[in-house]
Amino acid sequence: MGKAEFISAIKSGGAAFAENEPMSKHTTFKIGGNADVFVTPRDESELLFAVSAAKSAGLPYYVTGNGSDLLVSDKGIEGAVICLEKMRGISLGENTAAVSAGQSMMSLCLSLQKAGLGGLEFAYGIPGTVGGAVYMNAGAYGGEIKDVIVSARYLDKSGEVKEIGKDEMRFGYRKSVFQENGGIILSATFFLNNDDPESILERMNDYYSRRTAKQPLDYPSAGSVFRRPEGNFAGTLIEKSGLKGASVGGAAVSVKHAGFIVNTGGATSEDVKELIEIIKQKVSADSGVDLQTEVIFIGR
Ligand SMILES: Cc1cc2nc3c(=O)[nH]c(=O)nc-3n(C[C@H](O)[C@H](O)[C@H](O)COP(=O)(O)OP(=O)(O)OC[C@H]3O[C@@H](n4cnc5c(N)ncnc54)[C@H](O)[C@@H]3O)c2cc1C
Repeated sequence: MGKAEFISAIKSGGAAFAENEPMSKHTTFKIGGNADVFVTPRDESELLFAVSAAKSAGLPYYVTGNGSDLLVSDKGIEGAVICLEKMRGISLGENTAAVSAGQSMMSLCLSLQKAGLGGLEFAYGIPGTVGGAVYMNAGAYGGEIKDVIVSARYLDKSGEVKEIGKDEMRFGYRKSVFQENGGIILSATFFLNNDDPESILERMNDYYSRRTAKQPLDYPSAGSVFRRPEGNFAGTLIEKSGLKGASVGGAAVSVKHAGFIVNTGGATSEDVKELIEIIKQKVSADSGVDLQTEVIFIGR
């Protein structure tokens, strides 16, 4: 009922959509059952229309970026997945960049480098969108989104577009206000510093080569599965527990970086969840540390 009503509305609203779309095609883990409806708005008006149509039809909806921090249920996702990865755009100022939520962090970093704008080099290699990075306060190599963001525009739960400054975003370790208020980030503005493009490129390449040296980038994954425990590293604790290479079905603890679970082929969401439980129990028994997942579980 809700789905049919939503589809007939979305047809008139312009956004592309697909029914029963495998989420394994839209997550870096390459895992996940079908989304009932998968919508890809190209701009804010299509997004606003899709959200309002889902609300009117009483259909649940969930917003995604590049799906690089998600573990989607094998049973799929009820309702609409609204994926923002086609909602792109960068507007450069002298020291600023206003960027649409669906822009990939990788392409943003490359554009800023060419323009001689430094500050986001640390994010080169994070395989998400700007919206996902702000939502997660993504970070690496000592930098975090909170260090460079100035403001963000978002759609609040009542359907109003609002703009807030960095101080109101309540950033913490992989945390932002958007995890509390259910807002959909539309765009973000970053403050950057003028720098020589060659030096920026050097730093980006340095960070990227550190990633390729340490991370199992040749396998599908969702990055670090666990949050960094206070004063420790999840990967070190997992390795100490002798779990490198441990596997359930097609899911395995990476032998290259024990903080990653990789999909070695045909892994299911249940395989990954079971492996996560095994890791948590063994690390808790061996080191007394209760690991918390960073990866977000969604779906039925
Ligand atoms: C190989 C690899 C390396 C990684 N390295 C890092 C790293 O160094 N540092 C790091 O922090 N992370 C890292 N990650 C994790 C991931 O890339 C980040 O968390 C990224 O910011 C997620 O962005 P996304 O667009 O893929 O979001 P998704 O995975 O699609 O979504 C993540 C969450 O954000 C929400 N969301 C997405 N877009 C919006 C929006 N516009 N408005 C509101 N909510 C939104 C979703 O609802 C979901 O809850 C890595 C992942 C992989 C696979």
